[in-house]
Amino acid sequence: MEIEFWGATRTVTGSQFIISDGKRKILFECGLFQGRRKESEERNRNFPYDPGEIPYLFLSHAHMDHAGNIPNLVKHGFRGKIIATPATIDLLQYMLRDSAHIHEKDAEYVNKKRKRKGLPPIEPLYTMKDAEESMEFFEPLDYYETFEDGFSVRFIEAGHILGSVQLIIEMDGKKIGFTGDLGRPHLPILRDPDQIEGVDVLIMESTYGKRYHRPIEEAYKDLEKIIKRAEELKGKVIIPAFSVGRTQEVVYCIHRLIDEKRIPEIPVYVDSPLSTNVTEVFRRHPECFDEETYKMFLEEGDPFGFERIEYIRDVEESKALNHMHGPMVIISASGMCEHGRILHHLKNSIEDERNAVVIVGYQAVNTLGRKLVEGEKRVNIFGEPHRVRAPVYVLNEFSAHADRNDLLRYVESSGVKRIILVHGEEKEIEALREELARRGYDVHAPRRGERITI
Ligand SMILES: [Zn+2]
Repeated sequence: MEIEFWGATRTVTGSQFIISDGKRKILFECGLFQGRRKESEERNRNFPYDPGEIPYLFLSHAHMDHAGNIPNLVKHGFRGKIIATPATIDLLQYMLRDSAHIHEKDAEYVNKKRKRKGLPPIEPLYTMKDAEESMEFFEPLDYYETFEDGFSVRFIEAGHILGSVQLIIEMDGKKIGFTGDLGRPHLPILRDPDQIEGVDVLIMESTYGKRYHRPIEEAYKDLEKIIKRAEELKGKVIIPAFSVGRTQEVVYCIHRLIDEKRIPEIPVYVDSPLSTNVTEVFRRHPECFDEETYKMFLEEGDPFGFERIEYIRDVEESKALNHMHGPMVIISASGMCEHGRILHHLKNSIEDERNAVVIVGYQAVNTLGRKLVEGEKRVNIFGEPHRVRAPVYVLNEFSAHADRNDLLRYVESSGVKRIILVHGEEKEIEALREELARRGYDVHAPRRGERITI
C-alpha cells in the first residue's frame, strides 16, 4: 500500500493524506492551509487528486487545519462519505458555516479594492451554501467502533478537543496508526489520550516536538494571580482564545477557581457567537468528558458556568462591554488576535496598565498575538498604532497538544519502530526526528507530495 502526503508536512496546517491499495484512494483529513496569502489561495483552491474519485474521507477532529477545506472538496466533485465522531460532526455544523462566513467577508473586502482598480471580482474559497451542502455527506462513527469496507478504520481517544480521535487503519494486511492531534494527559474536561500499539507504521503529530509545557496547575495559579490583580485595580482581563477547546478550558478553569474560593466572583464574559454555539455542543456530548467533568455535569449540570458566566452573541452587547468598568474577564476570538471582536477589546484596553492580556494558545508568526507574546511595545490595531501598557501574560499550559516529553513517551509505549512525523514546524519536527533517530527508530518527516510505500 502507498501513503501520499499532501499537507501538514513540515508545517502545522493543511492536513491531508491519502492511503491507497492500488484500487481505491482513501482520504484522511481535509484541512485548510494557512500561511502567506498567495500560497494559501493556490493550495486551498486546487486539489492534487480528483475529489470525485475518493469514496471515503476520515477525520480526526473538527479543527479547521484538519477539516476546514471540506466544502471546497465537495464543490470539486467529492460524493463519498465523510466519517467522523458525532461530536466532531456537531462541531463542524457551526465551524464550517463560520468559516464560510469569513471567506465570504474576505472576498467581499478584496473585491471592493479590486473594483476600485478596475479588476474583476474573485470568488470566495467557498460559500455558506457550499458549507451547508457538504454537511449532507457526513456519517457518524463512535469512539472505539470500527468501520469496514474491504479495509478498516477504528477510532480511539486522542484527548485533544471534543470529539477528537486517533485512527487505526488496516488495509492490504498492513496496520497504520495516525495520532491526529494528540492531547495532553490531565487536561481539564477531556479524557486522556489513549495509546496506539502494535501497528506497522505510526504517523504522529509534532507540534511541540522541541518544547515542554509546565503542569496545568501552574497555569491555574497564574490565572488566579492575574484575576486577583484585576479585582484590586478594577481592571479588565482580556483573553483571546480559539472558539473550540481553549475557550471552554479557560471558562472551566475560572469556574473551578471561583468554586474553590481562590478568586472573587467577578463578571466573566464570553464574547463570541461561535464560542457560544460550540459550548452548547460541549453540553450535548458529555460522553466525551473525563470523569471529573462528567461528575460535575451530573451533579451541577453546568461545568461551563452558564449560570455565572455571560455568553454574548449580539454585536451591540459586545460593543457595550467597551464602556463598562472593571474588574471583569473578557474571553473572545480570534485566538491569534487577527480578526473578530477581540480586536475591539484589545484596542480599548491595551493602553491602560490596570488591564491585562492573557495569551493561552499558539500564536503564529506575523500575527498580532505573536507580537504581543514577543513583548512589542507598540502594535497596530485596525491600522492605528497603540502603546502596549497592559501587561501580557503567556500561559501555554492550556495548549491542547502533547509536548516533547509526552510525544517521546508515546512513541516508547507504542512499541512501533517505524515513525512518520507530520504536523510540526521545521524546527520542532527536526528536533523530534533527531532524538527518535538517536534512540534507534526508523523515523522520517516527509515533504509535500512525497509517496511512501509500506
Ligand atoms: Zn487540532
